Amino acid sequence: MLRYEDIKDFSDGRLYELNDMVKADCQDCRNCHKCCSSDMGKSITLDPLDIFRLTQATGRAFTEMLGREIELSFIDGIIIPNMLMGEYTVTETQSGTGGEQQTIDDETGTGGEQQTISSATGTNSGQQTVSSETGSEQQETGSVKVIKKAGCRFLNDAGRCSIHPYRPGICRLFPLGRIYEGRTFKYFLQVNECSKKNRTKVKVSKWIDTEDIEKYTAFVTKWHNFLKLVAKKGAEAGDETKAKEIFMFVINTFYVVPYEKNMEGTDFYKQFDLRLKTAIQYL
Ligand code: SF4
Ligand code: SF4
Repeated sequence: MLRYEDIKDFSDGRLYELNDMVKADCQDCRNCHKCCSSDMGKSITLDPLDIFRLTQATGRAFTEMLGREIELSFIDGIIIPNMLMGEYTVTETQSGTGGEQQTIDDETGTGGEQQTISSATGTNSGQQTVSSETGSEQQETGSVKVIKKAGCRFLNDAGRCSIHPYRPGICRLFPLGRIYEGRTFKYFLQVNECSKKNRTKVKVSKWIDTEDIEKYTAFVTKWHNFLKLVAKKGAEAGDETKAKEIFMFVINTFYVVPYEKNMEGTDFYKQFDLRLKTAIQYL
């Protein structure tokens, strides 16, 4: 999702390249799932590589994920998929008899707010209490307490990303962002997004945690420029139906038709480049 504010308002004022060190390492989000458990709206847009990864993670096709974990939205002048926010649950089962409490410190920016997950054990199975506040719901059943919230549907009940090796590019970046200059881009550090106070320095390329980083960088640039072209063609189409035809052609070409996996000579980027060539000719 593009932002049009002054970058100085939400960054440390520096631009970073792959070999630079940046204070982004939040130590594997230990004891925190604040971002993934908040309603991020449509901000996690998905590119074709993200969908390729998600189909591998879930074993399901793009169309089977639509309406469950992802959705199509009109963003930045085009129709594009994004992560669908929805209900996820955090459960806590307790052993022992003392009604112990476990806290998950979500370290919000205003001073370490704590989210408490607690349950009483044993004697009251069958009792069920439901309370609802600020979009979350708690259910207590015997020794298990379930906290339901709006957030990413891939967050598991332990408050961790269930598809971590396959997570989308935007999740890999965070709290970094990309700034595009001409036909290339650099990275910036968002200073108000991750509330972890003791973030350490890490090399940008390591933080992004993506194989074939040069190919990936070229892919991101090509995709960004292609989307700008699609938005331009959509705006020039004259009527809504024609614009929608263009957008659905892009969805079908780059997302619905599956990519071959692990076949020699057909890595994702080669397949993407072939589709891009065809799509540019069509547009
Ligand atoms: S895909 Fe994983 S890392 Fe990304 S928002 Fe969802 S739970 Fe968080
Ligand atoms: S606030 Fe920071 S530490 Fe917490 S989930 Fe988000 S990125 Fe991770």
